Amino acid sequence: MRWSQAFLPVLKESPSDAQIVSHKLMLRAGLVRQTAAGIYAWLPLGFRVLKKIEQIVREEQDRAGALEMLMPTLQSADLWRESGRYDAYGPEMLRIKDRHEREILYGPTNEEMITALFRDEVKSYRDLPRTLYHIQWKFRDEVRPRFGVMRGREFLMKDAYSFDLDEAGARQSYYTQMLAYLRTFQRMGIQAVPMKAASGPIGGDLSHEFIVLAPTGESEVFYDAAYEEFDWQQSDLRYGDEAGLQGLFDRVNSTYAATDETHDEARWAELPADKQRTGRGIEVGHIFYFGEKYSAAMGLKVSGRDGSMVTPHMGSYGVGVSRLVGAIIEASHDEAGIIWPEAVAPWRVGLVTMRADDEPTVNAADALYARLQEAGVETLYDDRDERGGVKLGSMDLIGLPWQVVIGPRGIAAGTVELKRRSTGEREELSIESALARLT
Ligand code: ATP
Ligand code: MG
Ligand code: MG
Ligand code: MG
Repeated sequence: MRWSQAFLPVLKESPSDAQIVSHKLMLRAGLVRQTAAGIYAWLPLGFRVLKKIEQIVREEQDRAGALEMLMPTLQSADLWRESGRYDAYGPEMLRIKDRHEREILYGPTNEEMITALFRDEVKSYRDLPRTLYHIQWKFRDEVRPRFGVMRGREFLMKDAYSFDLDEAGARQSYYTQMLAYLRTFQRMGIQAVPMKAASGPIGGDLSHEFIVLAPTGESEVFYDAAYEEFDWQQSDLRYGDEAGLQGLFDRVNSTYAATDETHDEARWAELPADKQRTGRGIEVGHIFYFGEKYSAAMGLKVSGRDGSMVTPHMGSYGVGVSRLVGAIIEASHDEAGIIWPEAVAPWRVGLVTMRADDEPTVNAADALYARLQEAGVETLYDDRDERGGVKLGSMDLIGLPWQVVIGPRGIAAGTVELKRRSTGEREELSIESALARLT
């Protein structure tokens, strides 16, 4: 992409209405614009990041055997009356009437809809277990939408739902999603720690929130430093390996991590002081086993192996896809701007000409841009007629992992400057070596 042809409205000043750094940076770097309270338009740069995050979530769900589908944003009130949640949900639900005075709502979540769909199609134990998911916009009329996309009213969520014949099966589905989540967040270049969450009406130990550490997080967190060492991507754990997944769960369960809601002082005190990590965190995912809650209320039954009718056990698994854009920035930025982890960066390389009026510089940059494109390297080429310093500042602000800076002095010597955004390290290299490093 050539910057001169892009829609990339960066701001010099920090917007005064934004309270936290990710919100400020998302406005300054032109990722989003608010169109109504808690409702955001995603500008091209922000949308590229959103899609990268969404794609990582999708690939890890697919790898875990979950099946992608797409449910609508609008749902009928009657569906929610079946579970009893239409009245229970309260003012966070956006309720609408159509021209026939039929009550509809903008879905805050999809347990009812998926349970009804599954109920109407599935009759036999042979069709279980299944985990279905979609990545769809949700609406929750938050009392206090704030921090930009972190607590929006309209937001993008991946929500998955599992159906099993019994609790043992449901636990395996839960462990499977737990591993998928650990891999998903690690791939995005962030550390998200699974923390035991308040387990709600049915009790049990099967509810975890995944928390990214950041000083502006809404919850206080306590965890074992061991989480800093785990490598879930590389682990040889396989989906379908029941004992292995049970082992994973046991390991998570025995490695302390809790939010202020579930914190246990006695267990915490057993941890050596040099292993205790405290701080604040942002909830980016939540997995939950709720047994027969919806299947029983909504009459989902299948015939079991012995011919008797069985009520499936369910779980649901959410990832805040749009919230993650803010959470990643909270976890990865400096004074100058955003520092995108490679896996979610809108472009991998930012190519900058220091002098747009110097012909040899522009020719060299054009040629390098063409070669990067040929090699499939996602590149944003700042070809604008602006001062070099301004362009370098914008590049730091939008945070692409690599910068290639081309100026008259370097070109005379046959070199360009390669800068790594995360460390600030710079190197003078020949154009060929710079290309070799980036391809
Ligand atoms: P919170 O505690 O932040 O209000 P929640 O517990 O109500 O979140 P869940 O019902 O667990 O949210 O939804 C799954 C995920 O959706 C959350 O872990 C979070 O990442 C995301 N999410 C929830 N509410 C919002 C929101 N208002 N804006 C952006 N993302 C959200
Ligand atoms: Mg909430
Ligand atoms: Mg919560
Ligand atoms: Mg939650």
